[in-house]
Amino acid sequence: MDIPFSVEYLGLEEQEAVIRAMQAHALIGNGPICKAVEQQISAQFDCKHVLLTTSCTHALEMAMLSIGLGPGDEVILPSFTFVSTANCVVLRGATPVFAEIRADTLNLDPDDVRRRITPRTRAIVPVHYAGVGCDMDALRAICAEHKLLLIEDAAQGVDARYAGRYLGTIGDFGCYSFHGTKNIVCGEGGALLTNDDHLAAQARIIHEKGTNRAAFLLGLVDKYSWTAPGSSYVLSDVLAAILQVQLGKRETIRQKRAAIWQHYYAALAPLAAQGRITLPYVPPICETNYHIFHFHVGSAQIRQQVLGALNATGIRAVFHYVPLHTSPFGQAQGWNQSQLPITEHCSSTLLRLPLYPAMSAEQLAYVVEQTVALLERYAPAESIQPLAPRISA
Ligand SMILES: *Cc1c(COP(=O)(O)O)cnc(C)c1O
Repeated sequence: MDIPFSVEYLGLEEQEAVIRAMQAHALIGNGPICKAVEQQISAQFDCKHVLLTTSCTHALEMAMLSIGLGPGDEVILPSFTFVSTANCVVLRGATPVFAEIRADTLNLDPDDVRRRITPRTRAIVPVHYAGVGCDMDALRAICAEHKLLLIEDAAQGVDARYAGRYLGTIGDFGCYSFHGTKNIVCGEGGALLTNDDHLAAQARIIHEKGTNRAAFLLGLVDKYSWTAPGSSYVLSDVLAAILQVQLGKRETIRQKRAAIWQHYYAALAPLAAQGRITLPYVPPICETNYHIFHFHVGSAQIRQQVLGALNATGIRAVFHYVPLHTSPFGQAQGWNQSQLPITEHCSSTLLRLPLYPAMSAEQLAYVVEQTVALLERYAPAESIQPLAPRISA
């Protein structure tokens, strides 16, 4: 059997939507379909302002441009994340400051965030790993106390909640991804969300190449002109047409993913009880969207053996992230001096299993059977290491 890691959940409805958009000559960006989808997201996830973008990467860049981030500024974020979380800071000439994650959720540890605040800190960027919310109450309290902005990298958090509120709508800005590997997809796409009118006005100008075209279309100004630096971050209406259909399927997508996630969890629980692995943790205040099913083994060496063997059976299991501070660029910048033992341990022992809505019962049974057998072989009982003690910065 050959089991891919992830497959988009697309049907005829999406194909028809693309054809309809093309027949209506709706191809350019930020057109009527984009406007409709922005309203749909605004209503579904309860957020005042939504701008569709070409990617989450670009939504993050827009957020940093909108707050006027610049040289000398510092932004606190996890090292255990995708490169875009840090690139948006680096591209503005500002400095990313990496904070530790919690070993249970792999999300920012608010206590460690506090230790890394300096007079130069401007913002905190929590990443909701696997669609499980960060400790937003603690992070909001820190931001309020130190007058910092909170910009959520909710690329993986679309359709997941924290204390009843949708991820991406809790901070000053939230950034969504509709990349083909995420839960709700249009190939390449994203969104910038905010409930703040002032930040939204800034973002609208940046979104439309530094012009007040958005205000012009609303009839608020009688001609549009260049008013600030900006770029082209608008999504094509053709892709928005796919997104419109996908957003309508979000319950189905989440339920199908949930069933697979829960099946994995139950099947691997006995191995966790034997101390061979640790299972993912979802705090009671969080409702996950089941974006990722991951678990940890006791060492990097065990991870390599299990992953290699899984791949050899045709199961495209994967790992991530190489912590950004240890990447070639991170090393060149000297960021590898950051003390992040939990990040390094967690990232070196993590494994992700295939998870996509159309996974068949047969495929699921095969992955479980192989994974259990390989873990029994390569991950000894009681091989889970207690985490290295926290080294304070
Ligand atoms: C996928 C992802 C991104 C980037 O999303 P794109 O839409 O591909 O730009 C950023 N951050 C995290 C945490 C992601 O998982």
